[in-house]
Amino acid sequence: VNVTLDTLRASAWFPLARRPVLSPHHADLLDLLLSLVRATGTTLVVHWPTYPVTVGAGEAVSGSVDLAACLADGVAWWSGHLPGLFAWRPDPACAVRLLHIPGHQLHPPVLIRVLQRDDRGRPLRMQIRVGDTYDSPRDERYARRALLHELTHAAGLWGHSSDRRHILWRAGPIVDVPDTDETLAVRWWLSLPEGLDLARYGRRGELDPGP
Ligand SMILES: [Zn+2]
Repeated sequence: VNVTLDTLRASAWFPLARRPVLSPHHADLLDLLLSLVRATGTTLVVHWPTYPVTVGAGEAVSGSVDLAACLADGVAWWSGHLPGLFAWRPDPACAVRLLHIPGHQLHPPVLIRVLQRDDRGRPLRMQIRVGDTYDSPRDERYARRALLHELTHAAGLWGHSSDRRHILWRAGPIVDVPDTDETLAVRWWLSLPEGLDLARYGRRGELDPGP
């Protein structure tokens, strides 16, 4: 993955092309990307300081479900589609770490949060918390979906989609893996310079940023 770590100076113009998406719920790729980043209250592009982002877990087994293995498979899925985004590193120093809380049912069952940012607002550490909601063989599929959903947030897209075919569907994933549009959105996000304000491009039918 080709991540742009340049910082854009304030109000600099940066060309963004309109790109089509498969989803009928979004006008184009920028419209999808905007809905996937607005959740944080900012539309400024922020990246991790370094890539690949290391992801790991200690032993995390809930009943018959090996949550750490499910998360590792999610990292492998992303590595197969965007090499260089995530790397599995099961040690405590990893950037995104799974925390299994045995004996608890969390609501929502899985949640990612940022634990630490640097002085430029870039994430340094995130934690994925999961309880014992998924503990039987028939739950494993849902654990995998949920962890892939959270990993997609960890890539920088904190919002949700209105398309049920997306792993980031707002009501929770009913698909097993991210959609082509979502993969494109993450790849595009990673190619954008830090500090770029996507809200400047939000008006439909307009190719150039607004004032
Ligand atoms: Zn979510």
